[in-house]
Amino acid sequence: MILILEPNTDHQGHAYRQLMDYLAKLPNIKTRVHQEVGTQQILTEIYLVGDTAALSVEDMQSLPTVERVVRVSQEYRILGRHRDATRGTAFEYNGVTFSQDHLHVFAGLCAVDNPEHVEMMLQALQDNGQVCTRMGAYKPRTSPYAFQGHGKNCLPYVFELAGKYGIKVVAMEITHENHVQEIRAALEQTGHPTGVMLQIGTRNTQNFELLKAVGRQQDMPVLLKRGFGITLEESLNAAEYLASEGNRKVIFGLRGMKSNMGDPHRNFVDFAHVPVVKRLTRMPVCIDPSHSVGTRDRAPDNILDVMHVTAQGVIAGANMILVDFHPAPEKALVDGPQALRLSELALFLQDVAIARNAYEQRRALALEAMQKNNS
Ligand code: PEP
Ligand code: MN
Repeated sequence: MILILEPNTDHQGHAYRQLMDYLAKLPNIKTRVHQEVGTQQILTEIYLVGDTAALSVEDMQSLPTVERVVRVSQEYRILGRHRDATRGTAFEYNGVTFSQDHLHVFAGLCAVDNPEHVEMMLQALQDNGQVCTRMGAYKPRTSPYAFQGHGKNCLPYVFELAGKYGIKVVAMEITHENHVQEIRAALEQTGHPTGVMLQIGTRNTQNFELLKAVGRQQDMPVLLKRGFGITLEESLNAAEYLASEGNRKVIFGLRGMKSNMGDPHRNFVDFAHVPVVKRLTRMPVCIDPSHSVGTRDRAPDNILDVMHVTAQGVIAGANMILVDFHPAPEKALVDGPQALRLSELALFLQDVAIARNAYEQRRALALEAMQKNNS
């Protein structure tokens, strides 16, 4: 059960203390307080864990400072919707708002190779009005002999260049909790020219100790990718690990499933699950068309498969697109065969805008139909 308190409830105030004293006396119930500091207001939610079936929603609702009570119906206590459409999905990070209604494109390098390519990429993004990117410094590779990423050595120039080109958020995969400290140190050393969204890759979706460590920090949001060989429910529970440790600025990423059913694509595209994740949870949903498709193949209609599946995700309501670009894909150290060229960025963004527009029209149409049915 979740008690949602009135906005800006003072934790030193009399009413709040009265509430906490009351909750402390409930038998077999533990409380966990979560505070979300937004730009406009501070929100407090109290999670009641234990024998909550014995509690009545009406009684809880009448307690001091309690605005609303939500009975938890599913596993995902914090991130779940619990059939409550009114709880917000938005969070803000470094001036960018993420929610189930927004859409942001994170085009960039799968792996950072050198400062020249980083700068060319970022310049292209700025020229196209983009404020987010992806940059891989720590690369989990199938072979131990493959390039593992430049790691912390490339962070200072990546962050400085990001700042120079007006990038607000860099999505960056980490594979070990030490990487969080390295990123934080590099941001400090360079004077915080940009922000970082920590990415947990598909190979680490169920690395619970990593999830707990990343969940304990609340300064950076997290993009958690779905595990490529586990159920959706298992991956959503992995996201809940982050939230249960305190970080709810979580975006859920679909990137295709490992199954030869998807051949000749690298993975079986699972973007039909965009609306499913939005129904089950309050997380904004990201799609990664590059790691799903894995090639630059195109259909007879001249549209690249990467762009086809991007449009499929966006028309289904995706909120973020993580996509590989490279100034010279043939020279890329990782995943060159799936990278789009900088000359294709404007086209890609135009194609995304068409799909987004279609999604917005579909949503308006559905709303209209529902209102007619109800009247
Ligand atoms: C990536 O985004 O660079 C990556 C390795 O993705 P995934 O974890 O989905 O394979
Ligand atoms: Mn990659």
